[in-house]
Amino acid sequence: MLELKVDKNGDGHCYTCMGCRSFLTPYVDENGKAKYYGRFNQGVVTINLVDIALSSGGDKEKFWKIFEERLELCHQALLCRHERLKGTLSDAAPILWQHGALARLDKGEPIDKLLFGGYSTISLGYAGLYECVKYMTGKSHTDPEATPFALEVMDLMNAACKVWKAEHNIDFSLYGTPLESTTYKFAKCLQRRFGIIPGVTDKGYITNSYHVHVTEEIDAFEKLRFEAQFQHLSPGGAISYVEVPDMQNNIEAVLQVMKFIYDNIIYAELNTKSDYCQECGFDGEIEIVEEDGKLIWKCPNCGNTDQDKMNVARRTCGYIGTQYWNQGRTQEIKERVLHL
Ligand SMILES: [Zn+2]
Repeated sequence: MLELKVDKNGDGHCYTCMGCRSFLTPYVDENGKAKYYGRFNQGVVTINLVDIALSSGGDKEKFWKIFEERLELCHQALLCRHERLKGTLSDAAPILWQHGALARLDKGEPIDKLLFGGYSTISLGYAGLYECVKYMTGKSHTDPEATPFALEVMDLMNAACKVWKAEHNIDFSLYGTPLESTTYKFAKCLQRRFGIIPGVTDKGYITNSYHVHVTEEIDAFEKLRFEAQFQHLSPGGAISYVEVPDMQNNIEAVLQVMKFIYDNIIYAELNTKSDYCQECGFDGEIEIVEEDGKLIWKCPNCGNTDQDKMNVARRTCGYIGTQYWNQGRTQEIKERVLHL
């Protein structure tokens, strides 16, 4: 954060991220004053990296060609979002545009000037780097032989954003999409188009952004160190997690991880579990079990499976959610390995 998110032209403060993962780029207004608050994002379009890999049939040359075509599709789709906003009058939402939440425009003034020059951002999202690399190289992107290819993919997307930014004077940036329920949609579409390919399309989910696959055994520190290099290439936003057990009696270890995060990576969090069964008062981890081909939540103490009589909290993709999730995301949560 200190390296990449401090405004060097302004007063040297840091642009922190939103709670979830979105990151604004440093911005200085026409008076040379850094602006930390009251900015916004024009929207996101996500590129499905797994689909590009599978469409290429594993042929690298074809892969880069299809990649360029898909990037151009995303470019056009993002411009649609931008065009949709253009011409909006400040009167559409006075608290946002007139009273300072996002800006202080006059009544009846269009918001257009805020769409250009970096006041707001627009995001190219990406998903499934792990599966993409796995299909193209036969290896996880944590394998030193496959890591350079993964980084090349990141570089191409950043390069595209740079070109679009120069062309339109709009602040395009690359963003690790949260993919909260889209993970299931993408996975289903991939299975429909390409069938079941072991290690690539055989799950009800695809891996978030650049993340290490949730089932891959890797310790917390190594995971954070590895993922840090991809966060540097995700200027529009990113978040890394380590999955941990109940750490209430090991605060020292929590502090060690936090210090490591501060020294090594822009933004990361510890995922722990705190569930509660209203039937028996069990306070621990409610489990996911499969019954009749469907994943359901079940209290390990009393066997309660009534979702209305238990409280389950899990980090979905940025925020901790207490709703329940679609089958694809539930499978992903079930398969998460502990890193500590
Ligand atoms: Zn119970």
